[in-house]
Amino acid sequence: MDKIQNRANIRPNRCFFTWDIQYACNFKCSYCFFCNSWEEEKKKNRYPGLEKWKQIWDDICKKYGGGHVHISGGEPFCYPDIFEITKHLIKNFTVEFDTNLSWDVDKFMKEIGPERVKFAASFHPQFAKFEEHLVKIKKLKDAGYDFGINYVAHPTQLENMPYYKQKLDELHVSLDVMPFRGTYQGKEYPVSYTEEEKRLIESVDKNTASRMLEAYAPKKKEEQKNTDNSENNEKKTEQKEEVNKIQSDPNDSTAHYAKTNKHYHKLCRMGQMYTKILPNGDAYRCCLQKPEGLLGNLIDGTFKFYEEPKICVYDKCPCWVAMITDEEENWLFHWRTPKVRPFLNK
Ligand code: SF4
Ligand code: SF4
Repeated sequence: MDKIQNRANIRPNRCFFTWDIQYACNFKCSYCFFCNSWEEEKKKNRYPGLEKWKQIWDDICKKYGGGHVHISGGEPFCYPDIFEITKHLIKNFTVEFDTNLSWDVDKFMKEIGPERVKFAASFHPQFAKFEEHLVKIKKLKDAGYDFGINYVAHPTQLENMPYYKQKLDELHVSLDVMPFRGTYQGKEYPVSYTEEEKRLIESVDKNTASRMLEAYAPKKKEEQKNTDNSENNEKKTEQKEEVNKIQSDPNDSTAHYAKTNKHYHKLCRMGQMYTKILPNGDAYRCCLQKPEGLLGNLIDGTFKFYEEPKICVYDKCPCWVAMITDEEENWLFHWRTPKVRPFLNK
């Protein structure tokens, strides 16, 4: 067997798994990535049974240590045995759910404690009522679950954001605004947000949304000049020089990738410390899901992390917190959460 390095000594010091557990959902939001393809997507779902999932995650823990499993979808709480899977996972992993919170939170609280569970509970005004959502949020928050709310800044639902923010602030619950990525009325987003819309988004969420907008829809040059400090400018100049060097290399047949991917030809730890798992068990190096980035399949038992960071050779990078070596200041903050809490004595 290959020698496996101890992941606790490699930043971010534990493994991260984004697990798209299934492509199915009881909501049908118009801005969902899958809104036009649910029937096709559902064909990719695979359920090998509770015992098989227990064995798969136990094997991963033995090889790589515990870590953080971020369960997404679709809606994870429509997946068979999700409570039982969670109960087993939290023995070795922290678990985070992207969920629309449309399920029975009282039952969950009775069966699974708050110590190793985090919720990124999206609020979708097309299918949920804010006041009802707030009641569930308050219950879970009061019971001690790590908690945050995600909200899609679709052009049609920007207006009420400050109100939601105020109500959530009162409960000390954070609101992460996700810039809309898609097409609305013939315009591509997030690049089509007006400057006023961007300011509104940034005023509601100064951290995540601002960083995501910076990654996906950077400010115009004049504005950037006013907001960047000189240290950042120096760093950007260095990066630009590096990119220019690659672009001007006549022997590099893929030099044009450097124009579309600022991480091109850099060493990235995605695939060594992170994997994206699809509902059929296929695990990829990162969200880009390129065939050459396939790490194996969890259900078939062929999954393996890389043992070293590898150079990024892709034409674009979809990740705003890609684990680029020597650029930890740009991403480490994101991969620090949630904290691993010991179980309370009951
Ligand atoms: S709740 Fe989430 S997964 Fe379900 S339709 Fe809406 S955006 Fe898609
Ligand atoms: S596309 Fe981004 S996240 Fe994926 S390997 Fe390249 S740099 Fe890393």
